[in-house]
Order: sequence, then structure tokens, then C-alpha cells
Amino acid sequence: MARILILGAGLGGLATAMLLARDRHEVIVVERDPAGPPPPADTDTAWNDWQRRGVNQFRLPHFMLPRWWQQVRELLPEAGDALRAAGARQVNLIEALPVERRGPIRPGDERFDTVTARRPVLEAVLSAAAEAAGVTIRRGVTVTGLATDGHSRVPRVTGVLTADGIAISADLTVDCGGRRSALRSWLQAIGARAPIEERSDSGFVYHCRHFRSRTGGQPAMLTNLLQHYDSLSAITLPGDNGTWSVVLATASRDKALRCLREPARWHAAVARYPLVEHWADGEPISGVDVLAGIEDRYRRLVADGDPVATGVVAVGDAWACTNPSVGRGASMALIQARLLRDLLRETDPADHDKLARRFDEASTQVVEPLYRATVWNDRHRLAEMAADAAGAPYRTDDPQWPVSKALLAAGLVDPDLARGYTSVAAFIATPDEVLGAPGVVDRVVALGMGAAQYPQPGPARGELLAAIA
Ligand SMILES: Cc1cc2nc3c(=O)[nH]c(=O)nc-3n(C[C@H](O)[C@H](O)[C@H](O)COP(=O)(O)OP(=O)(O)OC[C@H]3O[C@@H](n4cnc5c(N)ncnc54)[C@H](O)[C@@H]3O)c2cc1C
Repeated sequence: MARILILGAGLGGLATAMLLARDRHEVIVVERDPAGPPPPADTDTAWNDWQRRGVNQFRLPHFMLPRWWQQVRELLPEAGDALRAAGARQVNLIEALPVERRGPIRPGDERFDTVTARRPVLEAVLSAAAEAAGVTIRRGVTVTGLATDGHSRVPRVTGVLTADGIAISADLTVDCGGRRSALRSWLQAIGARAPIEERSDSGFVYHCRHFRSRTGGQPAMLTNLLQHYDSLSAITLPGDNGTWSVVLATASRDKALRCLREPARWHAAVARYPLVEHWADGEPISGVDVLAGIEDRYRRLVADGDPVATGVVAVGDAWACTNPSVGRGASMALIQARLLRDLLRETDPADHDKLARRFDEASTQVVEPLYRATVWNDRHRLAEMAADAAGAPYRTDDPQWPVSKALLAAGLVDPDLARGYTSVAAFIATPDEVLGAPGVVDRVVALGMGAAQYPQPGPARGELLAAIA
């Protein structure tokens, strides 16, 4: 069994650590933020007091998709039980829809089950579960660089260097340092060739608010969690222990909507959307939190067919991250963590060149298409929002975009297609898998192609601007 050092105790780092510890590896997680979580049951303290400066989105809305939950149930069942015990919300994305949209519940609908919570609660639970699984978590340890064996042609990483001058050695170092991972500059510092890296501003801004129920209930889910309207998207997310959150996502270039950061205008906007309005009827437990400058970034540690370094891999956001409105980050990190676990079952980390190549191969084959699909979706949505702001229809030569819009619209009026659309949103099927089923494309075209650009009720741009003026 190997000694594995994981850099970062975020959602991806903790999940990776647990998976590897279950395979009896010696797993050490180092985390820059000094404060540890309160006990998992103390969800108020996790929300109100736990400081996590290392994660920008720590107090922003998160929803764990059914794909994530399927993996947790299968791979990390103790963590799943602990989440439920901490008051995480159990929700079925089909059952929660109005019956006239989904029809009767069917066998197989349990694939839309998930369990979700506010991010600090998720992390507090996962952190305790990781320690219970034998993971050592050292907080307040900042990694500043990589240690190497000093003599390999392609640098071989043998651990990390920390801010207090200590080197921690490991057979394998896993960078789970998140969106702002400094791996590229650390590789440069040890003389490695540059990894392949693509990055660009995703172009979205999030205006988010969390609420707590005054009555103990949760707002009714009248439609999909993510809804697109003229000039903005709304996201309504159930949370743990009678909490939930609402996001208004706009294009960062849309200056007219920047005032949504002001609570009064944010509420004035929400009040214009009949399917969203009631989600703001609760006790606010946050301000209107704004996050901009979110990058799409993809990184590959094999360039021109050879590893740029060995003994180190990147998992989760450190490997690739996107605009989060489809909520796939934690699921993708877990998919990739599982690839690493499986690879370590058959490849000794001492075989470092092979491990580097095979992990790159697996990540590229399995996870990269998921990243690309998310970026594809974001690019179209952003262009559509830009067209909205310009008062023009959005036109594209890409035939897949109108089909994906038609699937959404058809899913609003047809219970089978509601399941098809929700499978994609739940990240348990790809659009190709849904559309590839017999007869589906014809029904999507018949029911969805002629639909309004925004088939759900909401204000046109001019009305929205008037409401928030
Ligand atoms: C606004 C927003 C909303 C999101 N909503 C969702 C959602 O609904 N569903 C979903 O699945 N995903 C969502 N995501 C994505 C999700 O947050 C990430 O995919 C997930 O956190 C990735 O986990 P990670 O472990 O890779 O990185 P992170 O969770 O970011 O953790 C990285 C950790 O590394 C530590 N670290 C960094 N550098 C160092 C260093 N030098 N030394 C020591 N420690 C270090 C940091 O302190 C941090 O704790 C959202 C993201 C954003 C921005």
C-alpha cells in the first residue's frame, strides 16, 4: 500500500482521501485553512462560524446531483449515512415536480434521488467521515512547492514543501488544491515542462442568497432547479435542515444587471418570476453574495505524449473546473477520484511513469468529455444572454443547441421527456444517450422545437429592468 499525500481538504480532496483510505493506503491530507469543522451535528456553527478562506465558494449555494449521490452510496456509504444524520435534505428531482409535469411515479425514478446540504455542512460531515476512515488531516499547513528526487530527467515528485519549511514525503502527491491550484508554477519551479493549460473567464456572475424556513418546510419545487429566462438564469436549491438558496446568474458584461447585488433589487427581480418568487419567502441567513471572475480551466500533466512530471496528479477543480451553474464539480471530482483508486489497484506508484500516463489517459477519456460538454453549454448560454441584452435573437450554426433547448421545452409538457431532461441535469445520462433512445428525437422536435425561447413564465428584459430600477 502507498503513502499518499492529498493537497486540499475540499469536496474533491476529502472524497479522494476516503476512497484511497478504504483501499488501505496511508492517506495524509494537508489543508491551508487552519480552522477545522465543528462536529457534523452542529450545522449552525458550521454555517455561521467556520472560516474557510481557501474556498471562495464556501458560503455559496451548492447542490449535490443524483450522480454524486449514486457514487457516495456505492463508494462511501458511511459518508452518505452521516450526511442524512446531519439533516441533509433528501430529494428526488422527479418526485418533487408537480404531478401534472411528471405523471405518476414510476419504477426507476429512484435514480433521481439525491441528498444535499449547504457547503459547510457537507464539508463538516465529509471531514469527520474521512477521519473515521483513517485519513489524517493536517490543517494550517500551506504547501509552497514540490519536492523531487533531484536526479530524474522528467522531474519525479516525492512529496511537498510547506510554508514552515517542512518537507512531507509521499509515494504519490494528489493536487486537490481547487480552482486556484498553483500546480503550474510549482512544476515550473522544479524545472518541468509546462502542462497543457486552457483558461478563460466563464463570463457569469452569481448573485446568491440563502434562506431558512420560518415554518420548518421547504419551498415547493414547481419546476427544474435551473431555469433560463430572458437575460438571466435562476437556480433554486434545496438545502439541509430547512434551508435553501436562490441564485440569479447573469452575464458579467451585462452592466444593467449588476445592481442585483443590492438586496432590495435582488428581491424585486425574484418577485417577477412566478416559479421562483416563493423561494425568497424565508428568513435570509446570508446577504446577497456575489461571485464573479469564475474561470473555466483545464489542465493536463501529459504534454506532447510525455508526462511533464511524475509522482503527482491533479484531481477535481485543480484538474478542470467550469462555471458552476450546472452543479457538476463535486460529481466530476468523485468520478476522477474513482479512476485514481482503480488505477492504484493495478499500478504501483513506484511505477511512476506508467501511473502518470495511465491517469492522464483515463481522465482524458472519461472526465474530459464531461468538462467539454459543460463548457459547450456555457458558451451557448452566455452568447444567448448577450443576444438578449442586445435585443436580438440568438442564432448559431450549431444544430445541437436548438435540440438541447427543445429537450428542455418538451420536458415541461411531457412526463417521459421530463425524465429525459432531468437525467441530463442530474448528470446520470448524456444528451446523446437521452436523444438516442427510440422515438425521442421526433418527440423532442414535435413538442419542443416550436416552443418560445423561454417557455417558463418570467419578465422580458425591459420589464425586468423596470422592476429593478
Ligand atoms: C459558486 C459556485 C457554486 C458551486 N456549486 C456547486 C454545486 O452546486 N454542485 C457541485 O457539485 N459543485 C459546485 N461547485 C463546484 C465545487 O465547489 C467544486 O467543484 C469542488 O469544491 C471541488 O473540490 P476540490 O476539492 O477540487 O477543490 P476545493 O473544494 O476548492 O478545495 C481546495 C482546497 O485546497 C486548499 N488549498 C489550496 N491551495 C493550497 C495550498 N497551497 N496548501 C494547502 N491547501 C491548499 C484550499 O484551502 C481548499 O480547502 C460550485 C463552485 C462555485 C464556484
